[in-house]
Amino acid sequence: MTCRFAYTVRDTQSGACLVATRDIARGARILLIDGRLQRHPTRYSIQLDIDVHIECDSELESSEMRARHPWRFLNHACNPNARVYGRILFARRAIGAGDEITFDYTTTEISMAEPFHCGCGAAKCLGLVRGFVHLDAAQRRARAARIAPHLQSVIGSA
Ligand SMILES: [Zn+2]
Repeated sequence: MTCRFAYTVRDTQSGACLVATRDIARGARILLIDGRLQRHPTRYSIQLDIDVHIECDSELESSEMRARHPWRFLNHACNPNARVYGRILFARRAIGAGDEITFDYTTTEISMAEPFHCGCGAAKCLGLVRGFVHLDAAQRRARAARIAPHLQSVIGSA
């Protein structure tokens, strides 16, 4: 079966996640983050700017949610294979068919509505993921090349 999208939402024991359906080249555009804008973060929202968070329509049925807001199923990883720039999710490195697609929530979120413990297994896993403002200087430096523009202003004030 061919699919026009390079990803699908897959159910696993630990919940639904986004998985590549074919090889994705480094730098390729994976999806557009579509939704409604609001001023406050929630569990699934992605921060686009200071006081601008994109949210999914929670009224949608499960199948519609997966079709319209696939980004809602993106899990965090501390050394992820994708990154968010504006409203676009890009491949940060080559992603193989079948690989889970992840991004680093601390590269978009200043301070998250629902912090959580990460078990991604990366050498420099953050452990408790709370948002960019909670990172130390070394963790911020490590992300400097891929953080959202609105986080640049946070660096100066820290
Ligand atoms: Zn981690």
